[in-house]
Amino acid sequence: MVIHSRWETPIPICSLPKWVFGSSFDPLPESPQFIDADHPDSRVITRAGYRLWSKRIALGLQRAGLETGDRVLLFSGNNIFFPTIFMGVIMAGGIFTGANPSFVARELAYQLKDSGAYILIAADASIEIAMEAAEQAGLPKDRVYSFDATGMDKQKGKARLGSQHWTNLLETEADAAKFDWVEPIDPKTTTLCLNYSSGTTGVPKGVQLSHFSYVANGVQVKYVEELDPEVTEKRKTERQLCFLPCYHGYGQTYFCSNFPQSGIPVYIMPSFDFEKMLQHIQRYRITQIVAVPPIVVLLAKHPSSRKYDLSSVRNIGSGAAPLGLEVCDEVSKLWPTGAMTVRQGWGMTELTCSITGWHPNEYQRTSAVGEVMPNCKARIMRTDGPGEITSANERGELWIAGHILMQGYWRKPEATANTTHIDPDGTRWVKTGDVAYIDKYELGGKFYIVDRIKELIKVKGNQVAPAELEAVLLDHNAIADVAVVGVTINGEEVPRAYVVPKPGAKVTEKEIAKWMETRVITYKRLKGGVKFIAAIPKNPSGKILRKNLKDLAAREVGDR
Ligand code: AMP
Repeated sequence: MVIHSRWETPIPICSLPKWVFGSSFDPLPESPQFIDADHPDSRVITRAGYRLWSKRIALGLQRAGLETGDRVLLFSGNNIFFPTIFMGVIMAGGIFTGANPSFVARELAYQLKDSGAYILIAADASIEIAMEAAEQAGLPKDRVYSFDATGMDKQKGKARLGSQHWTNLLETEADAAKFDWVEPIDPKTTTLCLNYSSGTTGVPKGVQLSHFSYVANGVQVKYVEELDPEVTEKRKTERQLCFLPCYHGYGQTYFCSNFPQSGIPVYIMPSFDFEKMLQHIQRYRITQIVAVPPIVVLLAKHPSSRKYDLSSVRNIGSGAAPLGLEVCDEVSKLWPTGAMTVRQGWGMTELTCSITGWHPNEYQRTSAVGEVMPNCKARIMRTDGPGEITSANERGELWIAGHILMQGYWRKPEATANTTHIDPDGTRWVKTGDVAYIDKYELGGKFYIVDRIKELIKVKGNQVAPAELEAVLLDHNAIADVAVVGVTINGEEVPRAYVVPKPGAKVTEKEIAKWMETRVITYKRLKGGVKFIAAIPKNPSGKILRKNLKDLAAREVGDR
């Protein structure tokens, strides 16, 4: 049975820049848009400035040879210029792709090659890794730009190791002011970014998202926020703090698109630091915390949370991984007046970002992730055979349809076909790989996410693809076969490897875990351990029986 949203709202068919800025030339306010939380006096980009800086970059990228549809990879943590690169690439008619700034060279080279990036812009602090990755991917050195937050400082940073400094990409304000961004002919079929996700199976893939899906996601989120009759009054004092990474759809949609579209100031932290986060909330009177569960857990448990005045916060939004109700209760105690709510949402890169949410005035104490956002449809499918579930509280795989659906995986039609389902009437669904139930089959029914049937492991909200770790491990000369699964230890999901050693191999489980440490980013390390096993359980066609191994891992080391 299809579950419809109880809300419907028209989506403008236009580019993301048009939705965010209205037009390329009409005046915009000079109110602060992006403020460097560590340098609030000297590093500020206004709302008008956001468009102008983005146009300077867009024009510069075009002059550097970027053509419509070319990819630009940004390998950096956040700074106030991150959104201008994101928007600049899009305004130039290019496709943005972002990578975790702590990736090792192999991980970055994979994304460079897979996306076929024409230009790499890399944080100055990671330029060595960027250069190594560029070489592995065959990208010429002069198409690597080193990036920092010195764009408007008198003393600009210097390019290193044969790269160019990113400010070389900036065209003059006068030229940029005359530049009209590239408005796509069809916003529904024009890709603006590739966000990497492993989906339900396999290695990370570029999720192709269109202008229309970003605009739809923004309009839908805004529609729900504006159900609050006091929204206009609240907006006047609204201030956001950005510490979530903008290489992920969560950061891009909220901080680079939705908040600027509403003119809401965003204080940007270069990296996450809990104590600093609390200081900034107090100092800047931040009104909402857009977070992931580990941060909510810190808020609940860390003694520093009680040292600061957090009374300006009206709500905490959490997504990307499950959040326990006890944690919500504990964190709520920090706001004894009860004026703050912790609302859990659910989303997925393949669905742009947020798919479920809460009517601002109807939130209850619950572990539910809310109801489906405007214009979206959901279905819960049986996992033990064909057909769909039609009764409340019964679990199955969640499927979603709507404007926010990805176009597909970049250059991977087979993976796209496996993850989507098309009804005879043409409705496209993403099979999410998440197990869910709904509390009532009526408009406004709330969803509960209870399990995952996909391979994906989520470590502190970050994606870890078992297939990627297995490929790396198979490079080890003592390993004959391997399977990686997630296991929950101390309430946190971590990867655990089951390894079949080659006959006569002289290696220990610990040595293999250590060997992995230099080959993957920290959160992909085998913190769930390595265990030797005689054979990897597989079905007759050779598919790893991950469920058996997950159960085994839970029995051996997991939380009970
Ligand atoms: P990503 O594509 O990186 O945003 O990851 C999406 C996946 O994260 C979903 O398919 C879920 O498995 C998981 N996820 C996101 N939000 C939640 C939530 N509130 N509760 C449980 N799992 C979640």
